[in-house]
This record gives sequence, structure tokens and C-alpha cells, in this order.
Amino acid sequence: MRKTKLPSGNEIPVFGLGTWRMGEQQNRFKQEVNAIRAAVDLGITLIDTAEMYGEGGAETVIGEAIRGCRDNLFLVSKFYPHNAARDDVVDACEHSLRRLDCDYLDLYLYHWPGSIALSETFDALHELLDSGKIRGFGVSNFDLDDLKDIPVADQPLLGCNQVFYNLAHREVEWAVADWCQQTGVPLMAYSPLDQASSMLQAPALKAVAARHDATAAQIALAWLLHQPNTVVIPKSVDPRRIEENLTALNIGLSTEDLVELDEAFPAPDIPVSLGLR
Ligand code: NDP
Repeated sequence: MRKTKLPSGNEIPVFGLGTWRMGEQQNRFKQEVNAIRAAVDLGITLIDTAEMYGEGGAETVIGEAIRGCRDNLFLVSKFYPHNAARDDVVDACEHSLRRLDCDYLDLYLYHWPGSIALSETFDALHELLDSGKIRGFGVSNFDLDDLKDIPVADQPLLGCNQVFYNLAHREVEWAVADWCQQTGVPLMAYSPLDQASSMLQAPALKAVAARHDATAAQIALAWLLHQPNTVVIPKSVDPRRIEENLTALNIGLSTEDLVELDEAFPAPDIPVSLGLR
């Protein structure tokens, strides 16, 4: 699995599996466990989740799926903004670890900005680092002003800013991507397939896909993987789609492809806020 370097010197895989909408219904538990196991068998090591997904249900599904192979994996979870106070972050992390049935998270993310002073939240994250319960921390849905509010010493320590980013939603390129580039913080692109929206039917995407004998989903992911220091976390519960998506790592886009995609899905040319799901 290709990796990208973090400012801390640690590495993060550039491709992972998303798990939003997993763990919501008991009758899908087995299918979801099998999908995660299939992903791991295919060589996917990064799994993204959050205490929010299925209110802990997704973490429970993952815990079941990864029994016996946790050490080879890179687990990312997130805490709610209403759990961002010092003791609450620590409690939330311990609950996540219990559901995941493991001892540590590789990355623990602040899910979206809230109202607690960031210095307090980052103190708690350092406490979790010191106790070995997490190996890194980061943020999600942080726009430029939010990033600048993070204690200065912690900014280059961020393991990622997980953001809404795909061909049809390039708001992150207005300002956040530059900040992350300059700081060395990876972007983790969520909803990279735009949740299988009409984006995947766009003629330009289909034309590029045809040239590569690939699918629109693969080209959408290959385009993100072409962006500097960017990680993708497409979600699927279908092992065939997981394999299809993973194959995007082998697609190299030409200048012609990139120009065509850029014209069909232009980057913002006026100030815009970060997009949100
Ligand atoms: P994605 O863009 O990953 O799309 C997921 C949807 O696409 C599912 O309906 C899936 O269906 C379908 N799909 C997957 N692969 C294919 C394919 N090859 N062809 C056609 N359809 C496909 O959306 P998500 O919103 O799930 O984003 C990915 C992950 O990012 C989340 O699961 C979550 O972990 C994270 N996230 C983080 C957020 C945040 O605020 N930090 C917000 C949103 C997401 P099926 O499962 O049936 O295959």
C-alpha cells in the first residue's frame, strides 16, 4: 500500500475504507463485517470511522471484522464536538477503543469544529498520546480560520484534515489545501465518490474512464490520488466495488485527462467556504 509521510515522520496509507452508514442495522452486520474483512484481505490497511457512525455501531462492526489482525491496520476514529472538553475527549476515546476492541487508535480526529477552546481539546489529545491510547491526532471539516485557531505548536503535528473533497466539490482548493501543503498536513478526502451521485455519470468522467478501460469511480479516485498529499477513503459494503476502487491506485492520468476533468469540474475561482456533508 502506497503511503504518504506525516510531519511527525510517521506514515499514513493513501487509500482506506470509509464506514459511514455501517453499524446502523443489525441485519446488515454480517455483510459489513465481511466487507471489511475483504478490504483487509485485498491489502487495505486504513479504516476510517467515527463514534457518530451508527452511534458506535460502525466501530463495533470494525471490532468484529479486525479481530486478530489489528496490528497491521491504521485505524482512524473521530469524536463529536460535544465531546471536545478535556475529560470528555478521553472518555470518548476509551469508549471507541472498547467498541473497536483494541488498545490504540492510529489517528483520532476532531470531527468538526465546536465551541470548546481548542487549547483544552488539544491538551486532552496530548494526554491520550502520552498514555499510548492514540498514536496521532488530527481534525476534520476545519476551514482555514479553524486551522489557524489550533495551537501553533500543534498545527504541524496534525495527522490530517479530513474534508469533503471530490471532483464535483473542490472548495478545499480555495485555501485549505494550500495551508495543508505548506504545513505538511495530508488532506483526507471524504465522500470521494460524492456518495455515488450524478457526478459518476458526467460525460467527461466517462470519456476519461473509457480511455483507461476503467470505471468513472476509479477515475474519480485516481484524480484525487493525483492531488498532492491526499488520502482517499471510499466506502463500500460490496467486495467487488472495494476491489474496483482499490485498482484506482494503478491508474496514472495523462495531462489530457487532467485538463478534460478540470474543464468539466472547475476549481473555485472566488472565495468559498469548505464544503460539508
Ligand atoms: P463515498 O463517496 O465513499 O460513496 C459511498 C457510496 O458509493 C456508497 O453508497 C457505496 O455503495 C457507493 N459506491 C462505492 N464504491 C462504488 C463504485 N465503485 N461504484 C458505484 N458506487 C460505489 O461516500 P461517503 O460519504 O461514505 O464517504 C467515504 C467515507 O468518508 C465515509 O464512509 C466516512 O468514513 C468518511 N466521511 C467523513 C465525513 C466527515 O465529516 N469527516 C463525512 C462523510 C464521510 P455500497 O456501499 O453499496 O457499495
